[in-house]
Amino acid sequence: MYRSGSDAPRPTVPRLSARRAYGIQRWVAPNRFYRAVARRLVRMPLAYRWFTAGERIAKQRLFGCRMCAQCALPVTGYACPMGCPKQLRNGPCGGVSPAGACEVYPEMRCVWVVAVERAQQGGHESDLLRLHRPVDHREWGRSSWVNYWLGRDDNLWTSADLRAGQPIHAESPIHAESPIHAESPIHAEPPNRAGPVS
Ligand code: SF4
Repeated sequence: MYRSGSDAPRPTVPRLSARRAYGIQRWVAPNRFYRAVARRLVRMPLAYRWFTAGERIAKQRLFGCRMCAQCALPVTGYACPMGCPKQLRNGPCGGVSPAGACEVYPEMRCVWVVAVERAQQGGHESDLLRLHRPVDHREWGRSSWVNYWLGRDDNLWTSADLRAGQPIHAESPIHAESPIHAESPIHAEPPNRAGPVS
């Protein structure tokens, strides 16, 4: 979603080291407990709102999160691609300087340069070969953790195998179970859209 003014996306360098961020990942991985919590939150708008507010504070401070609710961090070296002024989720634009500076904010490093550096630090370079699904703008402001725990963003990106030159269709989770259509958990079970985030 394009935004301007003080709300415009700006590249952010994560405050959490790549090693620590990858380490924390296993503590928030979906399990029965988290799924139960997430299901309860969806049924309780006020609790959902408080939970989402906490998530917003934590992730904004640590990663410059903009609450797109379809979190790409685990496969972008924990550098948020939504801080890119063009909000590119599949790599940098052509305007990155040879030194790695953002075209729009030359004083900042391109989020994708940061993503590559951090993925390399964590030994996760192959993550950057994945193809990301377009953002569902109806989800903005919602909890990405709840979406993650409930499996609503299971098909946010393809496997890294696309580098082998396979066609994007059929093998790609994006197209095999297209989340753009009705069968997407995101779309099939709109979680009380009017409630928690309004
Ligand atoms: S939820 Fe979206 S905006 Fe927030 S950190 Fe993840 S990718 Fe960035």
